[in-house]
Parts: sequence; C-alpha cells; structure tokens
Amino acid sequence: MGDLKMQPGLKYDQPSTQKGRTDVNAVTNWNAPLVWEGTFDPVVIDDIYKRMDPRVAVVVLAVGKYTRFLKGFLETAEKYFLVDFRVTYYIFTDNKQDVPEIELAKGRKITVLDVPSANRWQDVVLSRMKWATIAIDKQIRNEADYLFMMDVDSVFRNRFGAESLSRLSAVLHRGYYKTERIGFPYERRAESKAYIPADEGDYYYTAAVWGGHLEEMYKLVKYCYNQSEEDAKNKIEAVWQEESHLNKYLLYNKPTKVLSPEYLFSDYDQIPADVKVVRISQLVKNYAEVRPNGGN
Ligand code: UDP
Ligand code: MN
Repeated sequence: MGDLKMQPGLKYDQPSTQKGRTDVNAVTNWNAPLVWEGTFDPVVIDDIYKRMDPRVAVVVLAVGKYTRFLKGFLETAEKYFLVDFRVTYYIFTDNKQDVPEIELAKGRKITVLDVPSANRWQDVVLSRMKWATIAIDKQIRNEADYLFMMDVDSVFRNRFGAESLSRLSAVLHRGYYKTERIGFPYERRAESKAYIPADEGDYYYTAAVWGGHLEEMYKLVKYCYNQSEEDAKNKIEAVWQEESHLNKYLLYNKPTKVLSPEYLFSDYDQIPADVKVVRISQLVKNYAEVRPNGGN
C-alpha cells in the first residue's frame, strides 16, 4: 500500500506508538486479519473506507422488555460506532411506542420495523434471522452496503471503526478465545444441521455482533434461518440457536476478518490483559425479569 503515502492531508509517516504488538496473534491461519487494538492505525483505516463512504445498516431486535436497552445502545453507538460514516439503525420491535427519541449525527437515521411478540426467548432470538432475511429482501438491500447484526443489551465504550469492515467479519466469543477446539460449545448432536464434529473448528464466534457486505450477510442470515427451520421440522433446536448455525457456516466459509473479543466483551467478566480496550460491553441483566420465559 505504498501509494497511500501519496494521499494528501494525512500524516502517514508519523510513528505509531502502538506498532509491533507481539502478545497477540494478528492473523488467522487462512491469512485473514485478526483485529486487536494496536494492530491497525485508526486514522489510516477510517480514511481508506471513508473514501468509499459506505452505507452501514445495523439490525437490532428489541422485543418485549428489551426496548429498555435501546437508549443506551443507540446513544453510545452515536459516540463510538463508525463515527462520521452513514449508519441506519433498523430496530425490530413489538413495542413501537417505547422506542426512545435519540439525537443522531448527520447521515445517520433510525428505521423502526414491526415484529410480533413471542413467548419464548429462544424464539425471539431465532426469529432475528427470519425478520432480517425478510427486511433485507424488502428494504435494506436498497439502502445499505454493509450490514451488522447486533444484540441490543449492550453499550459501546470505545471506538468501533472501519477496521471492523470486510466481506464477512466475525467476533471471537470472549469466553472461548483461549480454549482448545474440543471445548467450543458447538452443536455436537449429528441430528442438528449445526453439527460440527469434535475434531473440526477454528474459533468459537459470538452471534451478538457480526457484520459484512450486505449480500454476504444476507446469505449467512438466510442460511441460519433455513437451517434452524430444518432443525425445527426435525424437532431439534441447536444448542445455542442461531449462534450454532453461524459457527457451522463460518467453519466452512471462513470470515475475511476476525475481530478480537474487544468487539464484544461483557460486564459480567474480568477484563484479561490482552484486551486493552472494550469496544462493546454486554450489560448485566436480570434474565428472569427481562425474558418472556425467564432464566437461562
Ligand atoms: N431479544 C429481544 N427480546 C427478548 C429476547 C431477546 O429483543 O425477549 C433480542 C435482543 O436484541 C437481545 C438478543 O435478542 O440482545 C439476544 O438475546 P439475549 O441478549 O437475551 O441473549 P444473551 O446475550 O444473554 O445470550
Ligand atoms: Mn445479549
């Protein structure tokens, strides 16, 4: 990328204080970037993507009591998520009147879409794939170049910038990034479409944050939807719902970027030494109280 130096207005020659980080692996064994703080220059990478000025869709579900998370999610996203980029938040809810008024920066907007209520949290979570598939077909395809699927019960705490963008980007699940593959909570029952044999697997990815090119995401979201429908026909539900199907897909269709657990950490957990910044944190919540059918 020597030609970058020719671009005016940016100081590419300045030494980076974060160069040469060696405590983490910054590339996968299929040569995709594995993104950690200190492995990229935020100014350079934002500038590269800014030149394309992509339209970014964020799909979140806020069904039942989960509308209470919208304010914190949206306000902090405005502060940290792809700042200065064009972003549309697609909020799927059964409870329109509880969607808060949020002041948005220029080029950013909110689109609220109706979905029905559900009695089981597992059904809400799986229905994300269905509603997203339908909404991409009907609307989002014409309005976005990139799409992120995100959980709403979380807040942004630090920059989440253009370094996250690629054809297909997935986030390492914070609970398993130091675990041997045998310990990954993949679906292990051969009867499920999400089945992964014990001797296979690269990483365990979270389904709470993932993104990529609109059409790549469409393929993957629809795949998760179809596979879980197949499972339902066979009277089986994958152990971690769409996350299990997502992990199966990504094993055989490798992501083009892997994002470190910085991109989704959790207020439940102590922050390990290799996580220098938490970009999104999952909030502590009272499961029994917020979920329609309680519990875990
Ligand atoms: N969700 C929702 N209503 C529900 C359950 C889930 O809107 O009753 C959505 C919401 O976007 C949430 C996501 O589905 O962030 C995943 O569920 P949850 O966060 O409860 O799963 P966890 O992250 O705790 O595994
Ligand atoms: Mn969540």
